[in-house]
Amino acid sequence: MIVMKFGGTSVESAAAMNRVADIVIARAVSGAVVVVSAMGKTTNRLLHMAGVAVGGARETSLALAEELRQMHLEETPESVHEAIGSHFDELVELLKSLSVLGEFTPRTVDLISSYGERLSSLAFAAVLRQRGVPAVHIDAREMIVTDSRHTLAAPNFAETNARLDAVVRPLAEAGVVVMGGFIAATAEGVTSTLGRGGSDYTAAIVGAGVGASEIQIWTDVDGMLTADPRVIPGGHRILVCSFAEASELAYFGAKVLHPATVLPAIEQDIPVRILNSRNPASSGTLIVSDAPPSSNVAKSIACKRQVTVVNVTSGRMFLAYGFLRKIFEIFDRFETPVDMVSTSEVSVSLTIDNAARLDQIVEALGEFSSVSVEQNQAIVCIVGENIRHTPGVAARAFGAVADINIRMISQGASRLNLGFVVAEADLTPSIQALHREFFSEVDPATFGD
Ligand code: ASP
Ligand code: MG
Repeated sequence: MIVMKFGGTSVESAAAMNRVADIVIARAVSGAVVVVSAMGKTTNRLLHMAGVAVGGARETSLALAEELRQMHLEETPESVHEAIGSHFDELVELLKSLSVLGEFTPRTVDLISSYGERLSSLAFAAVLRQRGVPAVHIDAREMIVTDSRHTLAAPNFAETNARLDAVVRPLAEAGVVVMGGFIAATAEGVTSTLGRGGSDYTAAIVGAGVGASEIQIWTDVDGMLTADPRVIPGGHRILVCSFAEASELAYFGAKVLHPATVLPAIEQDIPVRILNSRNPASSGTLIVSDAPPSSNVAKSIACKRQVTVVNVTSGRMFLAYGFLRKIFEIFDRFETPVDMVSTSEVSVSLTIDNAARLDQIVEALGEFSSVSVEQNQAIVCIVGENIRHTPGVAARAFGAVADINIRMISQGASRLNLGFVVAEADLTPSIQALHREFFSEVDPATFGD
């Protein structure tokens, strides 16, 4: 039995849902749970109309709800129109009370945004039935039990797994179950959500809870690549990588999925496959807890643009302690994450991604050190578990970029990445050179087209 998750774009219209139904019919031969996001941009639209209601523009808000109702009625099978109608009638009542209350609590945010997945899952189950698949719809709020941290609730795994095992597993072994992602409920039955983009997380929770053989995250790209296609074309598809490798790549904006969201699956050794709903024939990228051996040392050359380097120097750092603490305290105070750090006896270089509070940071650091800032920098990173035990990777990497000025170097303790900073203007040539060095020959067991 497998779990298949489809995002908002994949179910945005009747035509899109029918394409997804083709995929489900072809793949769900030994049972499946299908997890769907809200149709298209429904979550944003719901939150927007609620905000409008809270702001007092009641009629505008109700008009927005009508537009969304029309979209849902136009794009879904008639068999669910009555149910959709009563969901919208309820939503309209809620919007009216929001406009009177003028207040939008996190608990209400969750209730309002839950309509998206409640509707899309009802609709998609109906599409499958129309296509001859006896699909069962289950309200995810009856299965996924969370704490009451509304808008970013954490699952109670013991209770959730017990329910999934008792209710969803037997149904999915015998056929197809459809559930909304993202939505859940507290132990008291109050609607909660797992946070924006939470449907991937639902898929992983469900996959782990029902003991699926694979979790499929259907997106609109063929999977993860050896190089960011926006920087250089012609990268190879990664057929299989480890969870740790996927996590490094996600940090660098391989926007495919956030690996933390599939952790419940990886912890139980359930493989997660990234697939393309516009190109279902491609095998995508498989993420597993331990990557199989590969003759390539790297999995990908990742990068991050628009990085700012902050250099902090203290004449008195020699024999000084507490210097690093003082520096990091300032980044903490201004809520700015630090990505890469290099230190020497007299200076510390750090990179930050979000320079919104740079002026305040520089001023505070300037009270006990001298500070310089370099903007328009980029991080380049070679990612791969084999880096850990292969000698000569650094020599090959720096040999490949011998004519480029390297500003900072970092190899983390996990040692599955080797990163360095270059001026943004040098980014493309750096990636080209490294890609040539590390991917001119590729292991066909690890990489494909
Ligand atoms: N519909 C929710 C959102 O837009 C959850 C998801 O799409 O994963 O955030
Ligand atoms: Mg989404």
